[in-house]
Amino acid sequence: MKRFFSFIIVLIPYVLSAQNINFSDYFDNKTVNLECYHSGRFALEYYTIDNSYISGEWAGTRTKLLDNNDFGQHKVEVLDANTKKLLYSRTYSSLFEEWSTTSEGKTSCGNFEEVIRIPLPKSKVIIGFNSRDSLGAWKKIADIEWDMSMIIDDNSTQTRTHYALHENGNIKNRLDILIIPAGYSTEDSLKMRKDLKMFSEFIFSKPPFSKAKDKINVWGIEYFSEESGIPGLKDSKLNPNTELGVSYNTLGSPRYIMTRNLMNLHRIIKDIPYEQIIIMCNSEVYGGGGIYNFYATSYVNPKNSFVVVHEFGHSFAALGDEYAQNDSDVQGATENIEPWQVNVTALKDFSKKWGNMMEKTTPIPTPVTEEYKEKIGVFEGAAYKAKGLYRPYQDCLMRSDKPFCPVCTRAINNMIDFYTE
Ligand SMILES: [Zn+2]
Repeated sequence: MKRFFSFIIVLIPYVLSAQNINFSDYFDNKTVNLECYHSGRFALEYYTIDNSYISGEWAGTRTKLLDNNDFGQHKVEVLDANTKKLLYSRTYSSLFEEWSTTSEGKTSCGNFEEVIRIPLPKSKVIIGFNSRDSLGAWKKIADIEWDMSMIIDDNSTQTRTHYALHENGNIKNRLDILIIPAGYSTEDSLKMRKDLKMFSEFIFSKPPFSKAKDKINVWGIEYFSEESGIPGLKDSKLNPNTELGVSYNTLGSPRYIMTRNLMNLHRIIKDIPYEQIIIMCNSEVYGGGGIYNFYATSYVNPKNSFVVVHEFGHSFAALGDEYAQNDSDVQGATENIEPWQVNVTALKDFSKKWGNMMEKTTPIPTPVTEEYKEKIGVFEGAAYKAKGLYRPYQDCLMRSDKPFCPVCTRAINNMIDFYTE
């Protein structure tokens, strides 16, 4: 039976909480999947929780229950319903947010699936949904009371085979990445297994991931799509009628591979412990995508193994693109406020960014000249804007097939520590 809970606004005097939350005081070692609809249009949004179900063991950190990174466009909070103590929070971004900045998203309403995963609370909680306002400050969208009575039994998907592609330790204190194949039919079974192994090695082909192998587990799942290949190459309006729903041409960008079928995606992988999802796309046509704490996608090509690492830079470490061109209708970051992306600045609040990594003699902005080729600076042109947004290095993996710059490297290492220490 489907149970529908419309959003209930509850005014709460928030109690700021320290990080010293003992996991087992408040949570059981299981994962709750909140199937949500995130709907609205530009500058108007709603959340509803449509279903919730329990899946396997909690794979996330037990020591950093509060997300103090302040990245992303949205923030989910879990508060004790009685004391209002903040027990858990996570920041993320969404396809809804990107869509809302397109011309369609400014004139019509859309309804997007999202699945929020939290550790299983021991008692009644309030799930708080927040998004950034036009000035970048957090704004409350909805507070929804939640307890165990809202759990439904989920028998909708079969348990699937998964195995370790790279195993290094207990899921409690390792970064757990799950690779799910898309566009592999049952006839592609052998290729899928071979690609899974190769694709996981792409991640470790670039530093700093190559130097952090002992902190990371990579899991693969066997999942067969209805047909071989990834649709959407020719038809920009195509909304593929497949379980996983992965296609090219997302939001009008030919090479942007994404899916809106988040509920199916999460049900397919629900029994597997993971913290980050990468969708491996069976295609030889260049493409991919990555949204912070949402998921990443990439096509499979050993000659362009940097693509999955670039997209994972977005989805894992909150990195922005360090190039200026924009081939889609998505607006991207604005130069009017300091963006939350770690490696992009509008010079509105640069103290939060990479100034402490720069030589004092480097000018701001920094000219794109030979003198500053291997130096950290503030180079104009980033996040789809030629003017007003700046990147930290002349070239970087977030711009082209080059190594990550020192600023992106630091951000990735910080995030690996967040998951593993
Ligand atoms: Zn960079």
